[in-house]
Amino acid sequence: MMLMKKTATELQALLHNREVSVKEVTEDAFKQIAHLDDKVQAFLTVTEDEALTRAEKLDNEPMENRGTLFGLPIGIKDNIITKGTVTTCASKMLENFVPVYDATVMEKINQAGMISVGKLNMDEFAMGSTTERSAFKVTRNPWNLDCVPGGSSGGSAAAVAAGEVLFSLGTDTGGSVRQPAAFCGIVGMKPTYGRISRNGLVAFASSLDQIGPLTRTVEDNALLLSAIAGLDHRDSSSSSKEVPDFRAGLTGDIKGLRIAVPKEYMGEGVAEDVKASVRQALDVLESMGATWEEVSLPHARYASPTYYAIATAEASSNLARFDGIRYGYRPDDAKNLEEIYLRSRAEGFGTEVKKRILYGTYALSDGHHDELYVKAQKVRTLIAQDFANLYENYDIVVGPTSATTAYEIGGIVRDQLTLYTNDILTVSVNLAGLPAISVPCGFSDGLPIGLQMIGKHFDEATLYRVAHAFEQATEFHKRTPSIGEGHE
Ligand code: GLN
Repeated sequence: MMLMKKTATELQALLHNREVSVKEVTEDAFKQIAHLDDKVQAFLTVTEDEALTRAEKLDNEPMENRGTLFGLPIGIKDNIITKGTVTTCASKMLENFVPVYDATVMEKINQAGMISVGKLNMDEFAMGSTTERSAFKVTRNPWNLDCVPGGSSGGSAAAVAAGEVLFSLGTDTGGSVRQPAAFCGIVGMKPTYGRISRNGLVAFASSLDQIGPLTRTVEDNALLLSAIAGLDHRDSSSSSKEVPDFRAGLTGDIKGLRIAVPKEYMGEGVAEDVKASVRQALDVLESMGATWEEVSLPHARYASPTYYAIATAEASSNLARFDGIRYGYRPDDAKNLEEIYLRSRAEGFGTEVKKRILYGTYALSDGHHDELYVKAQKVRTLIAQDFANLYENYDIVVGPTSATTAYEIGGIVRDQLTLYTNDILTVSVNLAGLPAISVPCGFSDGLPIGLQMIGKHFDEATLYRVAHAFEQATEFHKRTPSIGEGHE
């Protein structure tokens, strides 16, 4: 039986009726990984022995102790620390780093009875949009192996799209859950800043980073967010807001929903096939009782430079800890302390990471701090205010997740305008701390297109309700890449 093709609810019913065991479900994930990952290259580490031992233990748990996610396999982006399992951030710097504790999300996943099957590839330290910047391997898009899966959570998206796992966790600092979800034709949620604890997430840009779930269906996504969200005293930016049962809100009813469509998200730089799919999606939402209007986000054009000033400034500070003394890579033959510092960072970090550290250090330096970092913080406030103004009259903001479908691997046919537009589409959400989801809304030349919905602070519930209604009214989520046919 191809269990990884099923949804969480379907699998839960099979487990509950004892038609399958947790061990069989777990074995199915590893069969899929063995069958497909040579091609997809989503995993950096596979933890088969640990997972099967845990599965056997969980099989003894009485039915009444089992929640909705009990016994289900999940893959984890390799910048979320996992006790006893190497956590590399896809960097030579952390190639042999084995954490001594679990991230808060891992504790929650374990409490829910889920089973981690391994660690997923990414752009080094989550800096990138293609997963080509991993120090170890290039992950491929299951819909077309010559294309990138997007990034930086490319391994997380590809593993779910290929049917290697039902669930994965990614992280989103400027779009890295939503854009790979769009490129791989799955559902990706970037929750409100503070919704999920960042304790145990290796920091890239602390004021922007959020962990987010990637799944094939909206319902599965809602189940996972309910399980991993909530206040954590080990992350002072985590929120005490109550975490709803997101699945309970999936009513299918979106009558009266007011949608804002920023003209900046549907303009020059966005491919025609993408725009056409988004317009069709708006027709579908309208047919279900929603209304939409074109609006403007006047500061959207400043989002990209603002994001890069803030993200790199924070990264330069966060990555200062990788000095060859406390963590990670250190050359064996360094002759003195200064050489340890210099060579550890020169040899341990890849080019993109070094570029960003340099840029961020410059943005924070005496003499440039005001014109770059401080100014960016002011513009950030204006960008957040643009959204707040819209939410006085609208419930959600809708547009494309990415300006194009997946790019070819290595093919830098990426013109600056497209890359710039892609950043505008996703980074504003992180600058404003808002929640946003990407759901499949079309295909072009066999490659998926994603629809982005952006909500009010802590209103993931509305995003899930609309995304679910849209999913149920369309067929896109039923298509799977032919690579995922499976192991039997
Ligand atoms: N592509 C963006 C960047 O390169 C976003 C990365 C992310 O969200 N982690 O910074």
